[in-house]
Amino acid sequence: MIVMANSVEDVQKSVLFANRYDLLVTVHSSGHDYNGRSTADGSLMIDLSSMKEISINLQSKRHEAGEVTVESGNSWLKIYEKVQSVDRVVVGGSSHTVSPGGYTLGGGHSPISRSFGLAADQVLETKHLELFVIKALMVKSKTTKQVGLGLGGYYIAVKSEQFYRLKTKI
Ligand SMILES: Cc1cc2nc3c(=O)[nH]c(=O)nc-3n(C[C@H](O)[C@H](O)[C@H](O)COP(=O)(O)OP(=O)(O)OC[C@H]3O[C@@H](n4cnc5c(N)ncnc54)[C@H](O)[C@@H]3O)c2cc1C
Repeated sequence: MIVMANSVEDVQKSVLFANRYDLLVTVHSSGHDYNGRSTADGSLMIDLSSMKEISINLQSKRHEAGEVTVESGNSWLKIYEKVQSVDRVVVGGSSHTVSPGGYTLGGGHSPISRSFGLAADQVLETKHLELFVIKALMVKSKTTKQVGLGLGGYYIAVKSEQFYRLKTKI
């Protein structure tokens, strides 16, 4: 069963539904995970690939070169195009088709990491979807052990938005 989520509310409802029927949940952004962690037989897949908002704030009070906010369904290509249009760069993947979701949870190695570090170090803020509720659900759910999503067994902190530092071009 696949939920094509379009909003935070869609994801919240999906998690509640999965909890009610004790379903295994998988989160899917681009599907690039080498070990197939974004898919599983019989799971309720929350597909974030339709959530593609990108916005840039060059007047950021948090970072002098500005910040970019992205939803998890974006590919790095789309983000690069947007960032390029304001003459900035962002630490992202070498493959244009990878999404920022799983990539950043795994640390995020970039062709410009030697100069600027890992993508995970660029995250200014992550908007979690009612993490408190989700954590509570995990405790109640029989599937707790199965919802160690994300790389390295993260909680099911399904991110709809991540805010990254922008860099002036090198
Ligand atoms: C062709 C190719 C090129 C790559 N290039 C690079 C590279 O240059 N640098 C690098 O560091 N890595 C690279 N990778 C590895 C890539 O970062 C990982 O495979 C990463 O897990 C992909 O994340 P995704 O969200 O695109 O994929 P998905 O398969 O959708 O997700 C991967 C994992 O993250 C979880 N996840 C995804 N989105 C969210 C979310 N919003 N909230 C919570 N959990 C989420 C999924 O459940 C899954 O466990 C590459 C992989 C491929 C296949």
